[in-house]
Amino acid sequence: MRSTSPLCPWCGKPLEAGTFMSRGGNYFLPLDAQKPHAYTQAAMEKRGAILLPPHFFSAPPVKNPAALACRTCEKIIIPYTGKGQVG
Ligand SMILES: [Zn+2]
Repeated sequence: MRSTSPLCPWCGKPLEAGTFMSRGGNYFLPLDAQKPHAYTQAAMEKRGAILLPPHFFSAPPVKNPAALACRTCEKIIIPYTGKGQVG
């Protein structure tokens, strides 16, 4: 049976499906941005940062995002919106 997994955009091999787990507080910060002073959505937006799920300040139950991994490239792709989350 042929795999229907999305392919890694860097090497083209099938991505491994999983879940991105965290205790919260993870974010992407642009290269030229200063670190936010707080983990609030407003502070993140002020610096152009993207807060990565699961969001520790959201109400339980925690929603961890579905993730795709490429072990060859050592990269993980996750959605940072509310879409594609798994419980
Ligand atoms: Zn790859």
